[in-house]
Amino acid sequence: MAQDTLGTLLSILRDGQPRTRAELVQLTGLARSTVSQRLDALLFHRWIVPAEHAISSGGRPSTAFAFNPRARIVLAVDLGVTHARLAVTDLSGSIVAERTCDVAIAQGPEPSLNWLLETFTELLAGCGHRMADVCGAGVGLPGPVEHDTGRPVNPPLMPGWDGFSVADWLGSRIGAPVLVDNDVNIMALGEHSAAGPQTDHLLFTKVGTGIGCGIISGGRLHRGARGAAGDIGHIRVPGSEVVCHCGNTGCLEAVAGGGAVAARLRAEELEAADARDVVRLVRAGNTWAIRQVRQSGRDLGLVLASIVNFFNPTEIVIGGDLADAGEHLIAGIREAIYGRSLPLATQWLNIRASDLGASAGVTGAASMIIEHVLTPESVEQSIRS
Ligand SMILES: [Zn+2]
Repeated sequence: MAQDTLGTLLSILRDGQPRTRAELVQLTGLARSTVSQRLDALLFHRWIVPAEHAISSGGRPSTAFAFNPRARIVLAVDLGVTHARLAVTDLSGSIVAERTCDVAIAQGPEPSLNWLLETFTELLAGCGHRMADVCGAGVGLPGPVEHDTGRPVNPPLMPGWDGFSVADWLGSRIGAPVLVDNDVNIMALGEHSAAGPQTDHLLFTKVGTGIGCGIISGGRLHRGARGAAGDIGHIRVPGSEVVCHCGNTGCLEAVAGGGAVAARLRAEELEAADARDVVRLVRAGNTWAIRQVRQSGRDLGLVLASIVNFFNPTEIVIGGDLADAGEHLIAGIREAIYGRSLPLATQWLNIRASDLGASAGVTGAASMIIEHVLTPESVEQSIRS
């Protein structure tokens, strides 16, 4: 207990509620002198701030202490194949500054990351901060990532990035820890932080050109043994023989992904290069496009129905470019899941569109690094060093 008392006090105060010294003594069971000493250290390093504490007896308000979300700032980026979203947030995850830009990730890791650093430096200057104020960065990449080392693993859309240590390269330049994960996992983290801690079992499904799933189980992101958990794009859709780029037939991605739907629309002489064009046609009321999106939802729902039986989530959140087609996709998904899943598994199941939309990635990247820098051990270390 003794060596982590700083971090323990801070983790109690993180809910934002101010507490007095006496309350903290009671909550921790520590000696009053120990609590006072630790509070002084936390105050000195700006992790907490004095706050007025309302008391019911009508007496003089006693001094209380509250977590200071502005004590440090974090960097968050959702790096896509052709565009990126960058954000600077405080320690509550509130976005202080944000920017979206075009970027060609195929130019390789060093040019892309150098660009990222320059853009972050500009963004920080714009909101009155310097790189020295940054306590960590969360990065999402559009490909498989080994989270423990922060390296992409054979990413199909990122030539030159295989095995490149994004975490080390960026971490040594910003002078703070960097955590890296794939885009779907950070979006799942973002949706989970927005949904609140009561939603402990959540599936985030990204439906774009590819299809992937981020799994929150028991309140934590489930990455699996090698980080491949949730890769549902190549699960077979029953009854389909469509050939996939992976060499198999009937893969979910080849049947229900944005590229597959666009190809079916092109076969009907409609102009559709990708998921975004599909969404444009749906919004314009094109009945063939609407029908194809609904079918894509049903095919996706067939695969998700098995996952619902297996995993029993309380919430399925649908995001990605094709999700912008609105209710048509979700309606198809619901139809298949409620028709195929067990009643006990669907009883409390909520299937809905993403609340965060395009911000899900940066929200999750920020939350990933905030949870890391605010662990009792990390706080303890930051004060000692
Ligand atoms: Zn496949």
